[in-house]
Amino acid sequence: MPWLTHLECARCEKEYDITRLQNLCECGSPLLARYDLESIGEAVDRDQMESGPDNMWRFAPLLPVPDGKIVTRGEGMTPLLEASRLQTSLGVGRFLLKDEGLNPTGTFKARGAACGVSMASYLGADAVAMPTAGNAGGAWSAYAAVAGLECHVAMPKDAPELTQKECFLFGAETHLVDGLISDAGKLIAEAAAERGWFEVTTLKEPYRIEGKKTMGLEMALQLGWRVPDAVVYPAGGGVGLIGIWKALQEMESLGWIGEERPKMIAVQSEGCAPLVEAYEQGRRESDFWEGAETLAGGIRVPKAIGDFLVMDAVYESGGCAISVSDEDILRALQMTARSEGMFICPEGAASVAAVEKLIEDGFLSSEDEVLVVNTGSGLKYSSLVSVDLPVVDAGSSILS
Ligand SMILES: *Cc1c(COP(=O)(O)O)cnc(C)c1O
Ligand SMILES: [Zn+2]
Repeated sequence: MPWLTHLECARCEKEYDITRLQNLCECGSPLLARYDLESIGEAVDRDQMESGPDNMWRFAPLLPVPDGKIVTRGEGMTPLLEASRLQTSLGVGRFLLKDEGLNPTGTFKARGAACGVSMASYLGADAVAMPTAGNAGGAWSAYAAVAGLECHVAMPKDAPELTQKECFLFGAETHLVDGLISDAGKLIAEAAAERGWFEVTTLKEPYRIEGKKTMGLEMALQLGWRVPDAVVYPAGGGVGLIGIWKALQEMESLGWIGEERPKMIAVQSEGCAPLVEAYEQGRRESDFWEGAETLAGGIRVPKAIGDFLVMDAVYESGGCAISVSDEDILRALQMTARSEGMFICPEGAASVAAVEKLIEDGFLSSEDEVLVVNTGSGLKYSSLVSVDLPVVDAGSSILS
């Protein structure tokens, strides 16, 4: 192992051994990877992170996977783009978009899958199993194929068609469920227990979040070792947000950044907003959201097992949780396409729409440097855009 020392329960702090496959703590909470940050600090300088592989594995000292055990398809080190037209039209100080759509399988899920599959394979799993809203299934199926692991996926039958095809194409045993991701989760948990598959459901294994935390490491690196005023993140399970927050803490311990923190802003859809409800009630835990419905499938998660970790980051950073309507999402998606030439995913569009709302209600100001995470490519959601284009006879004219 590099500098990984142990796993620690995020709630009761009980410690677990890193030499075995682990799921949740016996108290039912997620386990977090802990490192010997002091030794990393002595051995590694942040400047060393400025070169290295053009992917997230340049941060290997802060990741759990031993040398030679990395399962990769080049994920990470996605561009941090200036969205100057959005900046002007929305009236923020600076508008940055981290474009996760450029990852393998088209979403940031590749980061979690690369790290999670690397560790599952290294620690001896033969088969992994998970419920998914779509994109995680696509990513884990792909990396399981790279590692030669068997993969079992269950997803809502209305999950984006392309993600269903990805799982199938990458050779995962794929089941469509007439229900929500929470229903798919029950089926997977049962079958995994019965068959001895390693369950890699969101936050039920500790290393997906480590992969996702590299978004936070990259942000600081790309901004010259500082943080923006706000990070706006479309939260389903919230793993990316928890990961970014963890990265910031680790970088501060290493002296790579100071104690400043961006406001962490969790964005949900009005049709599924358990974290927003918890925020509005000043609570740390959310209730199961009945009848979850939104076209942004990645954030259609009625109850997140790590909700208290998302809320901690939101409260400690002075951030907030906010919901937007599906209409706002589609409008923001179109606006971003026309003004920035980017086909972002609906979840990313929810975050763009949230910035607009937060400027209007004064939570964000015209001075703020805002970083929006576009978690995936809109190309995976082409069915969201309907077109009715004129057909012209060849040999006639397109000038009507
Ligand atoms: C999974 C997913 C999300 C939500 O991610 P979490 O980190 O689990 O909150 C957001 N956007 C897209 C495109 C996703 O696939
Ligand atoms: Zn515990």
